[in-house]
Amino acid sequence: MQNYSVFSLARNALSNHQNWRQAWRSPPLKKHYDVLIIGAGGHGLATAYYLAKNHGIQNVAVLEKGWLGGGNIARNTVTIRSNYMRDESIPFYVKSLELYEKLSQELNYNLMYSKRGMIDVVQTYPKLRELKRRMLAMHLHGSTYEPIGVSELRRRISPLTGGDLESRLPIIGGMVHTDAAVCRHDAVAWGYARGADDRGVEIHQNTGVQKLLRGSDGSITGVVTDRGKITANKVALSVSGHTTTVAETIGLRLPLRTFNLTAFVSEPLKPLIDVIVNCPDLGVYLSQSDKGELVIGGAPDSGQSFRRDIKQNVFEESVRSMLELFPSFKRVKLLRQWGGALDIAHDATPIISKTDIPGLFVSAGWWGGFKAIPAGGLTLAHLIANNEQHPLSEPFSLKRFDHLDFVLEPATTAH
Ligand SMILES: Cc1cc2nc3c(=O)[nH]c(=O)nc-3n(C[C@H](O)[C@H](O)[C@H](O)COP(=O)(O)OP(=O)(O)OC[C@H]3O[C@@H](n4cnc5c(N)ncnc54)[C@H](O)[C@@H]3O)c2cc1C
Repeated sequence: MQNYSVFSLARNALSNHQNWRQAWRSPPLKKHYDVLIIGAGGHGLATAYYLAKNHGIQNVAVLEKGWLGGGNIARNTVTIRSNYMRDESIPFYVKSLELYEKLSQELNYNLMYSKRGMIDVVQTYPKLRELKRRMLAMHLHGSTYEPIGVSELRRRISPLTGGDLESRLPIIGGMVHTDAAVCRHDAVAWGYARGADDRGVEIHQNTGVQKLLRGSDGSITGVVTDRGKITANKVALSVSGHTTTVAETIGLRLPLRTFNLTAFVSEPLKPLIDVIVNCPDLGVYLSQSDKGELVIGGAPDSGQSFRRDIKQNVFEESVRSMLELFPSFKRVKLLRQWGGALDIAHDATPIISKTDIPGLFVSAGWWGGFKAIPAGGLTLAHLIANNEQHPLSEPFSLKRFDHLDFVLEPATTAH
């Protein structure tokens, strides 16, 4: 792999940057692979990378119907955190954060990782109770979460001038998650793609999977794509909001529903906020990007859908919530808005699992799945290579739905 460094930058400047090698190849499509991964989003690419790196499985193709990193990984609000509630979830996200911290060095790719922390702004006593309970669970697993008072909260987030005692929902305190971070989303896809390609993995863009194929013994045998049939010993589904539609082509029904989640950004402003601010009682969260834009997200649309735009009422609701706490932002111009189709399992916990179809694996239910990409890829690669769950993703298998053995994760707003 071509090393990216200040020296290679200087060397390539001498040739007007004409001699950089392509970050990944576009090889011809073969008829057979050991492993096919459907979906070149964060999870699919990370899985391919760890399959090659940790397990030496290199005859792998990642099939992507659009362009690499053009799905939800390009659409999220880049919040990385580990403040979950359940003993099953917390260690998984703690591991993901650990991997993220060293990922720029590991992939030799600048992910613009910034550990700036997250503050939950609390406005109701039930939410405060829930978050304090979450804090105690998190402390058992070495994750950070601490309460702060209202004056400290206002000191740390100076534009937070709403929510006083006279308001509809006065602020009663905050919780600080210092481990939380942001990092550049497309760079995660590009970094993993480059690392996987370097280890022999093939990435095929514009190669949509139309249907999964199974043999006479019932096991998976391959897929039919826009570019013809490809056979494989193992197939992994990593298609985010489209998991159910692809799985149904082989008669597999999964406990997932797809919803639209949206975000929008403002014009660039001078530096105002240096943490991720999450307001769970109002259903809105925001951070400020390195360019100065406010990156703002809200609650999902309530009806199931595959839409990737934003409904006007959802947008207005998020803006109204934001202005309750940040009234000075009413003068800020908004520049762009978008949405993504995300699938969510019945218990809001992800699925990393074998299926009833031998050789078919699934990684889905990634509601807030950007933060989970390193651990999701690591553990799915382990499952594919060894045919058994990684200890961290053991509770995330489909078996939990046989006996309603749910890992219920109550919602927070910051995905
Ligand atoms: C508005 C919004 C805000 C979000 N904010 C956050 C956040 O702050 N923090 C967080 O952790 N998460 C967040 N998320 C969620 C996060 O983006 C997703 O959970 C995560 O990106 C999903 O994993 P992925 O990257 O693998 O998915 P994707 O990037 O969607 O990858 C799936 C790929 O599969 C491809 N595909 C689909 N069907 C086929 C097919 N038939 N054949 C071939 N390829 C196919 C798609 O084109 C896509 O490229 C947010 C999501 C949205 C929409």
